[in-house]
Formats: sequence, C-alpha cells, structure tokens
Amino acid sequence: MWINFDMYCCHSRCTVKNPSQSAMSTLISKCKTANKPLVVAGCVPQGSRDLKELEGISIIGVQQIDRVVEVVEETLKGHEVRLLSRKTLPSLDLPKVRKNKFIEILPINVGCLGACTYCKTKHARGHLGSYSIDSLVDRVKIVVSEGVREIWLSSEDTGAYGRDIGTNLPNLLNAIVAELPADRSTMLRIGMTNPPFILEHLNEIASVLRHPCVYTFLHVPVQSGSDAVLK
Ligand code: SF4
Repeated sequence: MWINFDMYCCHSRCTVKNPSQSAMSTLISKCKTANKPLVVAGCVPQGSRDLKELEGISIIGVQQIDRVVEVVEETLKGHEVRLLSRKTLPSLDLPKVRKNKFIEILPINVGCLGACTYCKTKHARGHLGSYSIDSLVDRVKIVVSEGVREIWLSSEDTGAYGRDIGTNLPNLLNAIVAELPADRSTMLRIGMTNPPFILEHLNEIASVLRHPCVYTFLHVPVQSGSDAVLK
C-alpha cells in the first residue's frame, strides 16, 4: 500500500497566494486590458472577497456554482454580481467538461470539521457538508456508464465524511465499490484525509483498499507552520 505524507506548512494550501491567486490576478488584468466582461469563481474570491483586484468584478462563491448562468447573463448586461452566501450543496449532476475525459473528480463533501489556525480553506469552504450516499452512488453509476476509467473522491478531509449526516466513510466506500465493474475498467481513488477521523475506521478502510477496483493509496497531509513540528 502506498501512503503519501505531505509535509508542508500553512501557505502551500490551495486558496493561498501561489499559484491560484497569482493566476487569478494575471487573468483579471488580461481581461481588464481587453475590456472583456469577467466572472471569477472558486476559493480565492470566496475566501478573499475584499481583494483590490476583485473590485468591480462579478464573483461567484463555491456553493453557488449552479447559478453561474444567471451570473454570466447579468454580467453581460453590465451588472456586477456577487453571490457568496452558502446554501444547500450544489447538485452533483451539473454539466461539466472533464479536464481528462477518463477521470471523474467527485466531491463527497465540502468543508471540514477542523479549525486549524493557519488554514484559509476553512474560510472559503466552511463547515462540513456531506453529500448523501445515495446521491454519490447515483453519480458513480452515471460516470461508469459514460466510460470514466478513474473516479477520484475529493474532500478537504475524506475521513470526516458523513459525520454531519449520521453516516461514515466506510459506508460510503462500500456502497460505491459495489457499483464498480468487476473487470476493473473503472478504478476508485480515495482522496486526501487528515489522520483524526479516519483512525476510527482503519480496519474497514484497509478492507476497502484491498478491493481490486480500489487503488491502495492514502494521501495524508501533515501540516504545521513550524519546521520543527514537521520534522
Ligand atoms: S482540517 Fe484541513 S481544511 Fe479544515 S481547517 Fe484544518 S487544514 Fe483547513
């Protein structure tokens, strides 16, 4: 089994300045120079709505992405729209263009149960909100029928999955692997997990990792702002 321990400190995580924010700043200045209407989405505007470069620009938050058509239409009319409040989880079946047509990146929850002082993701993603097992299994069935070869479960903390809705990660994983074709034509990759919650389910997780359609791989970040602690 492969366990990938990421050793890093606070400012390497996703919403922070490099590379997401600098890529965003470059795109914003390109669009402004070309005088193009612009909508910015994702963690950076959600977590840092007051950034100077976002002034006068439409922004759409991470849990409002299902309203992107409305926001684009209003922006094209010359209005500045800001949709950042959180509501129910967006549907898993929103139309999407996969970067790699054989890989489905499937979010199993948003947010986390942590309160790590160095983390900006928490500001953007908020408290744990898990998708139901039924909705995730339905999505798996659809993507398998579409010919997807790998399903990557994604989460801020995979091990925390389900604690807000009265279930847990082993229940989800067992339900998903039951839908994967026996010929291993679609493989499952379990996403990043912090240690605390997954430790409660180690035996069940080990058994899921032995399934022929599951990569025997866990990604465990070990984070601290202190080099001494990391060491
Ligand atoms: S658990 Fe992860 S996402 Fe949540 S606050 Fe801590 S570092 Fe951030």
